[in-house]
Formats: sequence, structure tokens, C-alpha cells
Amino acid sequence: MDYEAFRQSGYKWIDWIAAYLSEVEKYPVCAQVKPGEIKSRLPEEAPVAAESMDAIFKDFTDIILPGISHWQHPAWFAYFPAQNSPPSILAELAAAGLGVVGLAWQTSPAATELEEVVMEWLRKMLGLPLRMAGVIQDTASTASLVALLAAREKATDYTTNIKGLRQALTVYISEESHSSIEKGAKVAGYGKDFIRSIPTDENFAMLPDKLEEAVRIDKQQGLQPACVVATVGTTSSSAVDPLVPIGDICRRHDLWLHVDAAYAGSAFILPEKKWMREGMESADSLVFNPHKWLLTNMDCSAFFVKDPEALIRTFDIRPEYLKTAVDSEVKNYRDWGIPLGRRFRALKLWFVLRSYGVENIQKILRNHIQWAAMFKSWVEGDELFELMAPVPLSLVCFRLNDGRGDEAALTALNEELLMRINRRGRVFLTHTVLKGKYVLRLAIGARTTQEHHVRLAWELIKQEADAILSLPRSGS
Ligand code: PLP
Repeated sequence: MDYEAFRQSGYKWIDWIAAYLSEVEKYPVCAQVKPGEIKSRLPEEAPVAAESMDAIFKDFTDIILPGISHWQHPAWFAYFPAQNSPPSILAELAAAGLGVVGLAWQTSPAATELEEVVMEWLRKMLGLPLRMAGVIQDTASTASLVALLAAREKATDYTTNIKGLRQALTVYISEESHSSIEKGAKVAGYGKDFIRSIPTDENFAMLPDKLEEAVRIDKQQGLQPACVVATVGTTSSSAVDPLVPIGDICRRHDLWLHVDAAYAGSAFILPEKKWMREGMESADSLVFNPHKWLLTNMDCSAFFVKDPEALIRTFDIRPEYLKTAVDSEVKNYRDWGIPLGRRFRALKLWFVLRSYGVENIQKILRNHIQWAAMFKSWVEGDELFELMAPVPLSLVCFRLNDGRGDEAALTALNEELLMRINRRGRVFLTHTVLKGKYVLRLAIGARTTQEHHVRLAWELIKQEADAILSLPRSGS
């Protein structure tokens, strides 16, 4: 393809993306295909002869699109949101055009220095401690693994990288921690048997007393506690672990405190949610995902660390071919994580933050939070439904409960409700289990969502509930 053909196709693709985003509502939210259906429509071998962009475009719309679940659909209420935005898409395109591989400062000084600047903007926006410095990782899973590795090194005086893990280190998570934390702890060599799952209170937040007790017992048994992972905004219910008492425990026992705020971290930019980050002074690291709720398309995970030296001592590696004359004067972010080659992700944060401005991002988040509060009030006001967790942000956990069944019957009832709602293709919700109870989750956060989409979700939920329970309901 020459550049003239590229230009022509490029306009067509941008037109297509703009139309897609403005009309995304016309698609069923969740892909309606069966396993294997897309694959069966694709050739088994790569083409030997070149194909035209028109032919590729046609197959994209005919074959690929039906297999897409539309995360940017305004009625996407599943999992957590994964937003994008026009400026973020443009930056992604520009980054692809530049084709930068950020493996050292000199491989593109602007990539490193823009990352320093936007991460400092974010630190200030989130109200994180002055001492923290940021680096962009691909996902929260990677960032938490990086934290767990640095914690392991610090706890062993930076000897594990040299001698291998010689002693049993324990790590403390909560029963509501995201699965990526357990995965990270296993990969970091702590071992499943040394991961302590701390119980949570009735609001699904970690119980500090139980944490203290677990640390004490491990110490008595000659084990070495190394790291605590607290969550602000748990995946199942958006519960907030109490950072102040957890931080006190970490300080007293000299433990690394990592805070997983993958979803909720974006809300730190709202002064009224400041309480969520109280205690952050004691944290050694924090991760949050602008690719969830800060208008920046996947992938972009912001990782902040109090002592960058701990990261550098964990990840630093200096083969001759990577040495440059300015290494002592610059940041080489390859030493702040796992990959050597790094994408130019700072560009999309820069485009997004400049293009929206903090106040417009705050408005978007506040709308989502307000609509979640509205939905919560409908659940509370309907005797057939039950609110299953507090709603500090934009996630509502609820279930249908007509009071006639035991837990098994309620699970079956709500499984059926979820299946029927999603089958209609107009909204998409997912579920979780909280303290043994099957629960539906409505997570508001797509950039395109408006209040009427939340109202639609409630109407459909009520209609399907009535149909299951064979109830006539006035006004529905
Ligand atoms: N931590 C929490 C609290 C999450 O909710 C999620 C995903 O939803 C993750 C971590 C994993 O995020 P990522 O997909 O960026 O690894």
C-alpha cells in the first residue's frame, strides 16, 4: 500500500469509526454468535497474494463486526467500563504512525518526558502523596505483579533476584481481591500456600483486625510477612478497604502496601470522594486504570510508587547494547517494570486530559455516580428487589427476591433473570457472588451512557422479573 492509498483508506476508516461510535446503540450490546462461528468464516491460511483494503474492510464489517461485543454501547453495564474517546483514538493512531519503541530515553526522549509529565498531572489530579512517582503499565494485572515483585525484593533485601527465593514470604489480600492479585502473587514466587485471604466485613471491606492477627500468627510461626494488597473499589461490589488502619499495620510490621484501585482510582479526581484515598500516605504503590473510567482506550494502566529505587533495584538490567551516555541523567522506564520495549501510551493520556480538561472528566464521572444512586433508589423502593452492597460509586449490586425461596432458589431465579435480560440484546449486565449470594451487577461507566439508558435497564429488568414471576405490574 502506498501512502496515497493509505490516506484514502485512512479517511474511510476514520469515517467508519466516527459513524460507529455515534450509532453504536443500533447494535446488540453483546455479540450474538456461537463459539467457533467467526473462526469458521475465516480462511485457514494467510493469503499468498495481496488483498485490497476494500476487501479487508468488507470482511471486517461482514465477519468481524457480528462477533464484537460493544463495550462503547451506552447500555453496556457489564463488568467494569472500558472507555475510549475520540482524542484517545486519535492519539493511538498517531502513536502507531510514529511506531516508537520506548526502550530507553534516547529512543524517543519525548515519549519518556511526556510520560513523566502526564503521570505527574495524574498524581496531582488524584491527590496522591507528593513523593509518589508514576509509570504507565499495560494493565492493572501487570502493575500489581510489578508491585509484588518489588515487595518481594525489598523484603529479602534485594537478594531474591540473585539467590532465588530462600525463605517463605507471606502476602495478604482480601477475600474480595481481584483474581489478578492471586495470579501475581503466584507468579512472583510467593506460592499459593503463603497467600493469606483476609475476611471482609458486611460491606465487603477487609477487616484490619483479621489482617493484624494473620500477620502476627505468621510471624510467630517464623514466616516473613512481605506485602499487603488493599483494594479501593473491589471488582464484585466496589468496596473500599480501610487504608488508614491497614496502613498502620503495614508500617508497624514493615510491610509493602500496594493499593489496587483499578476501577475506583479515577474517582479520586472528585473532591467529594477524597475519603476513598485517606491513608494513601502509607501506601508504597497504587494502580488505577485510565482505560477503565478515564476516557483512555485500552491499554493504559497508571502505576504510582513511593520509592522508584525499589523498582529500579528489582528490574534494572544493563546489557552493553542498551547503555547510553545520558543514563545517569534520565529516566529509563524499562527499569520500572517488565517489558523492555514500551508503547507510547502517554500520548493518549495527554490528548485526553487536554481535550476534555479535568472539569469535563469530573462531570462525566459525577453523572455515572448520580445515575447509580438513582438506580439504587429504584431497587430499594421495589419490594421485589434487594440491594446487595453499598453503592459508593457507579456500580449497583442487587437481586430479585420475592421472599419465597432459599439461596439455591434465589440463585436460579436471578440466573434466569440475567439470561433473559441479556438475551434481549438491549442492555448487558453481568453477575457475581457476594458472601455466597448470587448477585446482579449494573456497572455504569460507558462514555456514551445517558440517564435514559439506565432507565431502560431498570424497565427491562422489571419486565423480565414480572414475566418470570408471572406478575402483572401496573405501568410496566
Ligand atoms: N483489579 C481490579 C479491582 C479490577 O476490577 C480489575 C479488572 O476489572 C483488575 C484489577 C484487572 O485489570 P486489568 O484488566 O487492567 O489487568
